[in-house]
Amino acid sequence: MTAALSVIIPSPAADAAHDAAHETLARFRHGAYSVPCDTCHAPAGMLCRSRRAVCIERRVAYREQHQAVTLVPLLVGRAR
Ligand SMILES: [Zn+2]
Repeated sequence: MTAALSVIIPSPAADAAHDAAHETLARFRHGAYSVPCDTCHAPAGMLCRSRRAVCIERRVAYREQHQAVTLVPLLVGRAR
């Protein structure tokens, strides 16, 4: 959504907002930034080398880990 906005209305403020959004996600290890990147060797909580982008392998690793983390509590809750 933010990327599309910066394409429609290019401005330094939109660029700064987009950069800040990625930096905030990385700082709090949210989403794909919660796992390290095997492609550009960025540790968890750090940005990938490419600006405003996350490597594909990092997204895949996050999705696999996220599914594993959320699946277990559901199964434990039903077993009780
Ligand atoms: Zn990366």
